[in-house]
Amino acid sequence: MSALSELYTEIARCEDCELSRHRSRVVPGEGSEDADLLFIGEAPGWYEDQQGRPFVGPAGHFLDELLLSIGLRREDVYIANVVKCRPPSNRDPLPSEMRACRKWLDRQIELIRPKMIITLGRYSLAQFLPGDAIGKVHGKARTKDGIIYFAMYHPAAALHQQSLRQVIAEDMLKIPPLLAQAAEVVAEEHKPEQLSMF
Ligand code: URA
Repeated sequence: MSALSELYTEIARCEDCELSRHRSRVVPGEGSEDADLLFIGEAPGWYEDQQGRPFVGPAGHFLDELLLSIGLRREDVYIANVVKCRPPSNRDPLPSEMRACRKWLDRQIELIRPKMIITLGRYSLAQFLPGDAIGKVHGKARTKDGIIYFAMYHPAAALHQQSLRQVIAEDMLKIPPLLAQAAEVVAEEHKPEQLSMF
């Protein structure tokens, strides 16, 4: 069993906050275990709670489209949420719930070791870049401890506010060049020293 599958078993047993009492299924996350890109949403909704998989409802369909726009499928990346259980009636997750769940996200990041974390929406942004306002920082990258953080509006925002659809689609297109740049920096750092000629 992979370390990530073992982690799913632990998450499925978690009863560290009230949300565990309301869930049908826990939604740990899914995707490639060695993904370069880790997308982090807010919390499972009704569809996710039914299926135990992240982003499988209408917002997820838009996320699939966005991934396709940069030539990726969901199996090529990793998709997780700040909280792993659905808040009742899709309310916002409480600070105490996000705190209780943070350990699972940290373990996922440790195991996957993504090059880039894409925060989807303000709750996810606040976990990594507290104090930043999504309206200001979306579409911008920041490197911290060797990981590129890139903020995007939540895909569900485009379902409620049509004007955001284009903004989100344009932000998505910035991801591949950022990843390519990061790969160049790593290659440069690991270049063998030039042999001197006598
Ligand atoms: N919204 C989220 O933030 N996460 C999901 O998994 C689905 C909808």
